[in-house]
Amino acid sequence: MTGDHILVLDAGTTSTRAMLFTADGTVTASASRALSQFYPRPGWVEHDAQQLWQETLACAREVVGRIGGAASVAAIGIANQRETVVAWNRDTGEPLSRAIVWQDRRTARMCQALRDEGYEALVQQRTGLLLDPYFSATKMRWLLENEPAVAAAARDGTLAFGTVESWLTFRLSKGLHVSDASNASRTLLLPLDGDAPDPGLCALFGVPEQALPRICDNAGALAEADAAWLGRAIPVTGLAGDQQAATIGQACLDPGEVKATYGTGAFVLANMGSTIPRSSHRLLGTVLMQLGGRRTYALEGSVFVAGSLIQWLRDTLGLIDTAAETEDLARSVTSSGEVTIVPALAGLGAPHWNADARGVIAGLSFSSGRAQIVRAALESMAHQTWDLATAFAADGARWANLRIDGGMSANDWMAQDLADMLDLPVERPEFIETTALGAAMLAALGCGWFSDLPAATKAMRGGAALFTPQLDQGQRAERLARWRKALSAA
Ligand code: ADP
Repeated sequence: MTGDHILVLDAGTTSTRAMLFTADGTVTASASRALSQFYPRPGWVEHDAQQLWQETLACAREVVGRIGGAASVAAIGIANQRETVVAWNRDTGEPLSRAIVWQDRRTARMCQALRDEGYEALVQQRTGLLLDPYFSATKMRWLLENEPAVAAAARDGTLAFGTVESWLTFRLSKGLHVSDASNASRTLLLPLDGDAPDPGLCALFGVPEQALPRICDNAGALAEADAAWLGRAIPVTGLAGDQQAATIGQACLDPGEVKATYGTGAFVLANMGSTIPRSSHRLLGTVLMQLGGRRTYALEGSVFVAGSLIQWLRDTLGLIDTAAETEDLARSVTSSGEVTIVPALAGLGAPHWNADARGVIAGLSFSSGRAQIVRAALESMAHQTWDLATAFAADGARWANLRIDGGMSANDWMAQDLADMLDLPVERPEFIETTALGAAMLAALGCGWFSDLPAATKAMRGGAALFTPQLDQGQRAERLARWRKALSAA
């Protein structure tokens, strides 16, 4: 195999990107393009699947052009926004409708109806997921019921459904219809222990099995990009959903290893090894990866409001000018002076799952100023993460340490506060693009650069900053007591 670069396509929600990695994890080129967001009704979020493909291809061509062409590219890896559904015609490769994005809530009533009929326990037991509009199956059913072109294609056998990696792989390969196990495990159709969509689940959600992709590994000879796109046929050797890719990029390869991504919201995934996760605390069980047909699982929990709280302080309250200044403000005082914020601005996510909860700023006094409120906002990240850590532990996944990434993890004060409150070492890699890096590691493994994933992570993951706990037990307990009190008011 020729080429000393891995081309990573990272199809996110607001933008799609291409990056080139060498075998030591160095990025030699990157390009990014915005994706149009369509909000046709309140709670609806759509993408133009054709644009997603075209812009991703344009980014790929741009970076490949910069290194003098595809001869230098050994393989392609893809990481993607998860759960989003694309419907296309398998003969022509043309989309049949807009893609329904993971954030879209239009199937809330459908999910409620299934819950009312008592299906949630079965669905959770089989798939590790909950009956929520977030996941793919009810989006597929909605398209079948509401988009005539999708219904017609289902009748004449030309319908193809897929998540975003499946769509991009289909277009790249000109017709191979696959989905990797990490992405497929977000659809509500793949049992955690099954290697194909489950006929019973397909019937429950009204999704025709023949429209679904074949499930494949996360690394290996998965597909081949047609020579028409980049000037040379290139193997696609790594695929993964963005959060799973980030978990791999953070080298959480052993049970108990955990990563948390602090962006707009926060996503926490803990490696569970080969044990199928069973949560009694409304965490999600999901496939972390499948290699050589063998699965590694993860337990997942997410917090709705993380960096968006900082944006709210900046854009709505006008308390700060930039997100970065929160660090100096937090340091400028010795405590938040009993101010405690519960950032339930959009309800509460795991493990509370309370859509009706609303935000609280508790403990205000005349001595509470801008700095105390900003510090309390940052402290709420550690408090929310502590709740998740407690739920993970109760579900059998005690955290050994925490690896953080995402835009908000740049805040050193917050990173130290996480270490202090969780009483765990917190590690932040120097190279923060862990999603793209994880896809690069999978593709590098899949094209034979490395003999196993530990070797790939060892070679490609750079250094990391370490934050060690320093807070005494009493102060931690006092903060958590204040947090619990404020939480009950939310
Ligand atoms: P996403 O991928 O969800 O768009 P990013 O990973 O780019 O988000 O992170 C951006 C978020 O992080 C923003 O909400 C911003 O408010 C927050 N953020 C960025 N830098 C800092 C900082 N130094 N301190 C606190 N929050 C920050």
